[in-house]
Amino acid sequence: MKTPPLLPPASIGILGSGQLGRMLAIAARQMGYRVHVFSPDRHSPTGQIADQEFTAPYDDLDAVRQFARSVDVVTYEFENVPAATAVTCAQFAPLHPGPQALHVAQNRLREKEFMVKHALPVAPFVAVGSLASLLVGLEEIGVPAILKTATSGYDGKGQALIQPPTTNLQSQATAAWDAIDHQSAILEAFVDFEREVSVVAARGADGSFAHFGVIANDHANHILDVSTAPANVPPKVAKEAVAMAQAVLEALDVVGVLCVEFFLTGNGRLLINEIAPRPHNSGHLTIEACATSQFEQQLRAICGLPLGDTTYLKPAAMANLLGDLWFQHDNPKSEITNHQSPNWTAVLAHHPAVKLHLYGKQTARPGRKMGHITALAATGEEAANIVRKARARARARVGIPL
Ligand code: AMP
Repeated sequence: MKTPPLLPPASIGILGSGQLGRMLAIAARQMGYRVHVFSPDRHSPTGQIADQEFTAPYDDLDAVRQFARSVDVVTYEFENVPAATAVTCAQFAPLHPGPQALHVAQNRLREKEFMVKHALPVAPFVAVGSLASLLVGLEEIGVPAILKTATSGYDGKGQALIQPPTTNLQSQATAAWDAIDHQSAILEAFVDFEREVSVVAARGADGSFAHFGVIANDHANHILDVSTAPANVPPKVAKEAVAMAQAVLEALDVVGVLCVEFFLTGNGRLLINEIAPRPHNSGHLTIEACATSQFEQQLRAICGLPLGDTTYLKPAAMANLLGDLWFQHDNPKSEITNHQSPNWTAVLAHHPAVKLHLYGKQTARPGRKMGHITALAATGEEAANIVRKARARARARVGIPL
């Protein structure tokens, strides 16, 4: 029998309390749902929007039970939810996306093996469990290659690059193995990609599929910097990327939003880098750019509602606002204070298309995602120019003419 959709004012449970949970909570509140959030933090970015904030460690299963009992559906905003936490939630409320998506996305080795099993293209890789297996892997893969921890790596953390010359390969391998603390890992061929792109897509409870097309992503220091949509890629590449994303969502039986990140090589070849079974930083621009945002889409999917229209109203770009903007150049260790707050007036004055999003984080740290800005324009390139230039004004001193 078909499960009836969950209608407002049902309660949405969110595991994790960062910006992704916050933006999902805003979409949920807008539609009249209640929001309960669970994380170890208090007054978190999501907690500030939620009806109820449960504060306990993820492995406090009594607290997890209490949270799960209080909601009608559970989702998560980060993929490193411990398996026991997810299983405990699933005893009391539907968990979307399901445990299989979490299991695969939590481990780079499982992720790559999943892609191979489903004939989806990835860079050559080998499993590494010891220095000896790393050396054997280097023989097979060659250099340059990247050693990546199988679990808990993100934004380039838990990675070590091994480069030519190969004359000192043994010592380079030892240094890389030490750098990742001898954790179980994969060794992956370095991809000489031309661009990085992503596809954010959703699958409804009835198997329906909707996507936000291909988004182009520029990184700085391994962290997403600027996303532009629609990406300027040949129609054939866009079609292939969307088909691959759909294959991933179907193979993992996802109900919800999932993002697939790709490397695009100079000869138009797509390789899947990684997947995230949740809304994604590269999809933030859909809030202003699309008829339905990635967050509303996530909500619709997990509640069993029809998926929304993903049409772009206009091309768009998004620039991340990292904590670095809160610090003076000469004093990167200084604490956040009012007088060091970025000059939002100058950012907004740059162009009326600029939209500011701040996540309500209490402390700024270099590299920490504190917010983002989005702009719509006639072309993606123009929108990207606007957000880059607007962001550059964040450091303008108040009172100094621009
Ligand atoms: P990841 O945490 O795997 O997404 O890696 C973070 C960033 O490092 C990616 O967005 C790429 O810019 C870069 N990177 C990761 N893997 C590779 C690779 N095999 N070849 C080249 N660059 C890579």
